[in-house]
Amino acid sequence: MAELTDNEVRFLYSQRIDDSAVMDCSWMRSRRYKAAMEQEGYLWCISPTACYNGHRLRSRPGHCIQCDTSRIAFVKRHHDAAYIYIAGSLASKVVKVGSAIWPERRLSALNSRYYGGILDWTLLYQVRFEAAGKIEFETHGRLFGYRIGIKEIFRCNYKLARKAIAESSSGQCGTDEWERRLAATSYRFDD
Ligand SMILES: [Zn+2]
Repeated sequence: MAELTDNEVRFLYSQRIDDSAVMDCSWMRSRRYKAAMEQEGYLWCISPTACYNGHRLRSRPGHCIQCDTSRIAFVKRHHDAAYIYIAGSLASKVVKVGSAIWPERRLSALNSRYYGGILDWTLLYQVRFEAAGKIEFETHGRLFGYRIGIKEIFRCNYKLARKAIAESSSGQCGTDEWERRLAATSYRFDD
């Protein structure tokens, strides 16, 4: 993974994009990266070439999201159907709540990127929504007091994260819901 600069990390945080949702395409050919993003289910990337202002962060359609932040809302609106997922780490006693088009692929990426300094990320839950962005945002709000740093990592039990998603999605019907067996009893960190 190409390292994000402090500036890029701050920028992503200000735009409510978790760095785990950014694909590293810096090593790819510039003609190849959009297809790779589509295949892996990413909307944002570190692009192979910088824009005229030296920025590296692009949307899947290829626009510099640092030069024009209105592109971010546009892309989010048009790709709002996604899974909300919960991942957990038994070693670090934390959960992560995020959104992804392909949660299982995102999970492998979390582990290979050593996301949050953690190597045992396990997919615990997923549910698909037509409008996932608002639910993800509300869920993060409900868990704010448990948040660690600027990543989507929370020091709380799986059950609490699951409840936060349920409360945030009232009114919207999720589909393709899946839960790992024993997630509720294994990912319990308060006793
Ligand atoms: Zn730019």
